[in-house]
Formats: sequence, structure tokens, C-alpha cells
Amino acid sequence: MARAEIVLTSDLSLTSDYNGIPYVGFGACLPQNICPHWIYFKFFCPLEPAYPDGTLVRATLGLRTIEATCIQSGFSREQVKVTHSLYLDKLINKNTKIVGISAEDPLGIGPATSTWSTIFKGIPHNRIEYFRLMRKVKELKNKYGFKVVMGGPGAWEVEAHMDKFGIDHLVIGEGEYVIPELFSQLASPENNGSLDRRVFYGRQVKPKDVPLIQGPALGTYTEISRGCGRGCKFCAPNTAGKMRDFPLEKILHDAKINAKGSRDNSMCLQSEDVFLYGSNSKHFYPDEDAIMNLYKTLFEDVGISRVFVTHSTLAPMAFDPDFFERLTKYLRSKGHRYYGCQPGIETGCSKTIEEIMHGKALPFSSEEYPDMIYDALRTCANLGWTNVCTLVSGLPSEGPDEMKDTIELIKRLDAFPHLYIPLFFVPMQVTSMKNSRAFIADNMTPYHARILLDCWRHNIKHMDRNYRVVASEIGHKAIVKMGIRAMIEVLKAYIRYYERRHPELVMVH
Ligand code: SF4
Repeated sequence: MARAEIVLTSDLSLTSDYNGIPYVGFGACLPQNICPHWIYFKFFCPLEPAYPDGTLVRATLGLRTIEATCIQSGFSREQVKVTHSLYLDKLINKNTKIVGISAEDPLGIGPATSTWSTIFKGIPHNRIEYFRLMRKVKELKNKYGFKVVMGGPGAWEVEAHMDKFGIDHLVIGEGEYVIPELFSQLASPENNGSLDRRVFYGRQVKPKDVPLIQGPALGTYTEISRGCGRGCKFCAPNTAGKMRDFPLEKILHDAKINAKGSRDNSMCLQSEDVFLYGSNSKHFYPDEDAIMNLYKTLFEDVGISRVFVTHSTLAPMAFDPDFFERLTKYLRSKGHRYYGCQPGIETGCSKTIEEIMHGKALPFSSEEYPDMIYDALRTCANLGWTNVCTLVSGLPSEGPDEMKDTIELIKRLDAFPHLYIPLFFVPMQVTSMKNSRAFIADNMTPYHARILLDCWRHNIKHMDRNYRVVASEIGHKAIVKMGIRAMIEVLKAYIRYYERRHPELVMVH
């Protein structure tokens, strides 16, 4: 019998690389009534394979980081297993002391999920899969008596529901300083696995203390930094403090591990602000040498053929467009066909920027913010980049005047083929806006509807061109292309339907 004392797992919506396209991962936020279970798993969320013993070939970066933390703190590889949630029965037995669960948006109340689920009035896949996993874990817990520990970016969502899900301990924030002590106490025969304290808040970890991953991460996410010093009041990464860059040696190590798990020899850099990597500037100036050195290390020392990125702000592109031209030329010389990142535009209103997120504009002023966004997105479009940009809709301080500024900005940005995705404001419990009211579709005014429709009309106008870019990345997977195509048509039809049903909401100009 395998001796897995610590079993780490996540639900099925976090057990896929979404066909190698991170944006498709947002499919987990769609409610089941518009994207049925079988379509979701067949076209968008093909499940990762497992080894015969039930362990995962590739797992989320969060699980890999906790696995590495356990091993660094003295647990053996035999004691810690990162497991496919379909095969928990294979690894969990009377020897199991702890089941650790990592969750992104377990209740489906994060910004992306609540936007779709309150518009379409359905239950999202991430919530369905989390509930399914927790039913299974509870059943096994009743049989074997282990402790359940949950962490991850969505851990805060279940703080008031721990007993309902059978969760013994919750880790909110970064896990590296909490997990070793917590797990060793729970695994220790002396204290019989019992601890009075139930919720632990993880401190910010020093980059030198972040362990090297021991197995490949899904989506080949390679973490290059943590935190973001820009201080937006509604944002969870803001609470992670100043941006902390990881040493190049760690990135190189993790990239090599991830490269072994990459299906197409690509890599995705995980950061809140990728193009500020290596910058020590208090003014948020990008450091070209540090970024180019990072890219060159990945291409030349790891042998990766494409490097994608997650989040970035837009200020670096507006501040130094020449650098982005040189970077794009470099990527092109390496055979890249797609360039893009996921920035947050959030609003077109300088007043809102100054009140809630003035750091997002730096090194520009809040007054300059809308022009900065325009300049950055024009630079990106001219260089062939397609960014997936989010906006936050329903901020408590935004009335018609503020929203008119956003409507105006979207009109200016219509010339560029980037995607603009409005998401509803969610007062996350780990932010300073936790006492504000969540925004849902029922609270939409004609101005909110205008922003939503202008963005999606724009996205649909450029959908065919963007679809071709995505299709060129996913190669010959005809079935996936078919699924994406079908979802585009559903979206187009829904927007037409919405405009007919709600003429009162779409007349604002
Ligand atoms: S810039 Fe982005 S990641 Fe940083 S605090 Fe603002 S919203 Fe969060």
C-alpha cells in the first residue's frame, strides 16, 4: 500500500491546461446553462493524465509550490503526493494524515465568474467541480480521519463555510512560511493531529525562501515574481506587497522542470507585472536589460521555443515603446507568431484612478491615465500584439460621469484588435474594499450595460482575426477550434438577443 501521508489535490477545473491556451481557462467561469458539462470538458477542459498510482503528470503551480515547500521542509517525496482528484481512492488510505486542497475560485464568486454567472443566471463550472471534490474528500475523511487543509488564491471565499466542507484549517495568503509548521504538527503523532487554531494568514515570502518546484506545472507557468507594489485597493495581489523578483537561478531551474512537461516547448511567465521584472525603480520604469536577459536565458539556456506572459500593466509599453519594438523583433526572430499579455485597464476615469488605484498609472499621473492606456495599446497593436484587457465594472464610487469616461475610452480603443473584458466588481475579503457591496447583473444601470455591450461588440468585430491567431497557436486540434467557433457564435447571438430584450439599457451614449 502506498504511504502517502500528505495528499495534495485540486478540483477538475484546475486539472487541465485548457489546450495550452490560458485564456480558454476562463471557461471554468462559465455557467453550465450556457456551456454544458460535456461541452466544457470535451472542447475546453481536457483532463490531465495521471500516472498509474494516481499522481498527476502536471499540476497547478500552486500545488507544485506546496509540494516543494513540504519537501524542502523535510518531508520525503514518498510522503507527499500531488494527486489527480479522480484517483484520490488510490492514494488516500489509513496512513494519510493531511489532504491539502488548492482552490482558485471555489464558490464561483470571483470577478470573472460572478460576471458570467449573474448575467446568465447559472452555476459555474468551477463551483460545481469544487463542490464535487469536497463531497469526495468528506466521504474519505469520514472513513480515514485525516485533516483537510485548504489554501490558494480562493481560500478566503470559504472562511465562513469551513465546517460545511469539512475543512479543518485554512491558509490565506502565501503558504511557504505557514505550511511546514502546520503540516508537521498535523502529521505528528504527539499532538494527534489536532490544533486549536483554524485559520492561518501567510506572510509575504522572501524570494530566497520560495522553493524550487519538483515537478512540471500545468500551463508551464513559471513564476518570476510575486506581489505588486501599485496598490490598487480592490485587488488581492496588492496585499502581497511590493513586487519581489525571483532570482534568475530559480527561474532557470523551474523553467527546465516545466520544459519537460511542455507539449509544444512553450512557457508562460507568471507575474503580476511581467515587464517590471528586475526593475528596482521606485518610479516603475522597466529595466530592459533585466527583461532581455530573462528572455535570452529562457530561449538559449532552457531551449524554449516560445515564451508567453500572464499579467502586465500597460504603463511600461507607453513609457518605453522602443523597448517593446526591440522585444517584439527579438521574439519574432525566435519564431513567435503570437504576442500578448493580460493587462487591467479597469476604467477610463482619471478621478477613479486617483481615488482607488493611482499606482496603476505610474510613472504617469492619474490625469494622463486614459492617454497612457491609448498610447500603450496603440504601440502593442502596431507591433502585432493582441492583449486581453480587463475592466472593472460597478466600482462603488463610479456614477454616470465616471462611466461616461470609460465609454469614451473604449470608443477610442475600438481601433485596436485587443479584447476588452468588463468584469463585475467583487469586494474580496483580503482587500481594503472588503466591506463594499458586490456588483451583480441585476444592479446594472444603462451605463454599465453600455460599457458591457461596447466592449463585446468590439470583441466580436475582431473575433475572426483573433480566432485565427488562436487557431494558429493550437495547431491542428480541429475539435477545439470547432468548440471555440461555436462559443463565438453563441456569444454573437446572445448579444443580439440582449439588445432586443433590453432596449432601455442600450440607448445611453
Ligand atoms: S496593478 Fe494589477 S496586480 Fe497590481 S495592485 Fe493593481 S490590479 Fe492588482
